[in-house]
Amino acid sequence: MKLADRVSQLKTPANLAVSAKASELQAQGKDILSLSLGEPDFNTPAHISAAAKKAIDEGFTHYTAVPGIPELRAAAAGYFNSQYGAGAGPEHIVISNGGKQSIYNIFQALLNPGDHVLIPAPYWLSYPAMVELAGAKPVIIAGSPEKNFKLTPLDLEKSVTPKTRLLVFNSPSNPTGVCYSEAEQDAIAQWAVDKGIIILSDEVYDRLVFDGLKPVSLCSWWKKHPEHFVIVNCVGKTFAMTGWRVGYSLADKTLTNAMSSLQGQSTSNICSIAQKAALAALTGSFAETEAMRAAFERRRNLAYEMVSAWPDVVCPKPQGAFYVFPDVHRHYGARFPDSVALCNALLDEGGVALVPGAAFGDDRCIRISFAVSDDILEKALTRTAQVLFRR
Ligand code: PLP
Repeated sequence: MKLADRVSQLKTPANLAVSAKASELQAQGKDILSLSLGEPDFNTPAHISAAAKKAIDEGFTHYTAVPGIPELRAAAAGYFNSQYGAGAGPEHIVISNGGKQSIYNIFQALLNPGDHVLIPAPYWLSYPAMVELAGAKPVIIAGSPEKNFKLTPLDLEKSVTPKTRLLVFNSPSNPTGVCYSEAEQDAIAQWAVDKGIIILSDEVYDRLVFDGLKPVSLCSWWKKHPEHFVIVNCVGKTFAMTGWRVGYSLADKTLTNAMSSLQGQSTSNICSIAQKAALAALTGSFAETEAMRAAFERRRNLAYEMVSAWPDVVCPKPQGAFYVFPDVHRHYGARFPDSVALCNALLDEGGVALVPGAAFGDDRCIRISFAVSDDILEKALTRTAQVLFRR
């Protein structure tokens, strides 16, 4: 069957081949340790699941308003207000199917064919594909591991053209775990305002930060310049709710209404039951989030200690999310010439599943998720080193 061009042009993500192979090996009974997960390895807190069960029992199982039930929109605005002083109302919020649909809606609502979108690399792998699906052009700006993959306005400036419409900003970052400081963020935000470029700030890992850092956001910039900023968050990473599929955006009323109209013609409201669960999450205790965060910090310490001791590897210290993204390219050669080949070798020879850096726009690196138990983490990293340094 002949498919539409937009689908035919979708590239197969570099991570899929490795994860398909990992599943195949697992099905054959092989001992595979996976550090490829992009989600917390904890269960959704009981009070959140209880709210969902109650919703079902009470027959809250019908269509809702497209942008979400009013109390959840208010709770999401309340989160941005209480944490970051956004000064938002429910009319600035759309509840979507995960942060992913929020981001998709934003690109669809803002981009015209030919527009340019600045995407710092390494990046979350869906950004470029979604930009292309909106007919626009992703402009990738490479970061360097020696500089913690961080970019400054000077780095961004070089890639600006009259067609530049948007910058995607993600801190804490998937895949690097790197966090921009408030001052570094402010410099980029001011630069974007001066240039008339909109920032899409993907803040889905905002609660998962280490070393005593306090969560930061571009909400205060949104408050001052609502037409220049749009913020995305989700309950998936914060409350171990990835499968519930709840994301939320903070935008000015024009963009909010446009996103709601788009969503109304694609998915309509998200699952009514998941909305009640998200409401319980955002209005309840964050104690279990803090417990998860502390576990991730302990595992970050373990992973970083092991990986940073590897010779000829540059490993920025992650200060958030649950990933380490070391640059291992100095070990590439005949056995594994690139990150995909290395991840294949790790699977075949070490029984470890990692995601190749190529999937995130940096072939020098591999992504290690520490959203697993300390035991598995230690064992998998020991095996990784054995394969990497075997001569
Ligand atoms: N943004 C980043 C940086 C992510 O890592 C993810 C998920 O992995 C998302 C957005 C999407 O989150 P959700 O699962 O809520 O759609």
